[in-house]
Amino acid sequence: MEVLNSGRSVLDAIEKGINVVENDPKVDSVGLGGYPDAEGNVTLDACIMDSNGNAGAVAYLSNIKNPISIARHVKEKTAHVLLAGKGAQKFALQNGFKKENLLTPETKKRWERWKQTNKEMHDPVKDNHDTIGLLAIDKNGNIAGGVSTSGWAYKMPGRVGDSSIIGASLFVDNNVGAACATGLGEKVIETVGSFLIVEKMREGYSPLEACKIAIKRLSKYNNSNIFQVSYLALNKDGEYAGFSNQKEFSYSIVTNNLSTIVKSDYLLK
Ligand code: ASP
Repeated sequence: MEVLNSGRSVLDAIEKGINVVENDPKVDSVGLGGYPDAEGNVTLDACIMDSNGNAGAVAYLSNIKNPISIARHVKEKTAHVLLAGKGAQKFALQNGFKKENLLTPETKKRWERWKQTNKEMHDPVKDNHDTIGLLAIDKNGNIAGGVSTSGWAYKMPGRVGDSSIIGASLFVDNNVGAACATGLGEKVIETVGSFLIVEKMREGYSPLEACKIAIKRLSKYNNSNIFQVSYLALNKDGEYAGFSNQKEFSYSIVTNNLSTIVKSDYLLK
């Protein structure tokens, strides 16, 4: 809101808002201090989309704490949408970003504990993954969005989640609205959730109805009660909603008159 109120663009608000979470070492699922993979390497996914429908993304980026800013650079300074791995890191360094160790003493300790006790992949429903997803609309009705995450804790090296994939974790159509996702990225990719939500809003569904349709698509998985997926949607009129398959998803709403946390409704009651 500070960025928007200072007259800067809605895309600036998305990038700067997500940077706050990426820079916070206490947030253990995004940027600095994010969960490492099974070998102890922190690898980050992010994507961003603007009001003109242009997108940028990074996948499997290491040692750079602000993947959302690199995603924005990809959008604005290259002819590509998605850069991954070493190439994404090289591009970040060429653009003046610093190489840093993102594994904090605390996340290192937890990873070492996990290595001793739990060699298998985690049960995805447990609290071992999260994403900052941010959607914003400015006073002129322009919409943008972004997502950033370290992904599934102790994932297989090389794993890329939905947060790099435009249409899965994020989609923006300035004439309609925007949607973003958090939760088990594999399921979000397989159901192309955020694109689905925006297309449903285009057909006239409300943000809540559109999120419910995307969550119900997950029921094609007969084990959909053991993982979690949650969506946020915002339409051109500034109406918004969140919806989850599981209980205990909440999201934040900030306007000039309001700053609050909302508990989302959910499917599996
Ligand atoms: N969607 C993220 C991923 O699968 C994790 C999460 O949001 O919980 O990488």
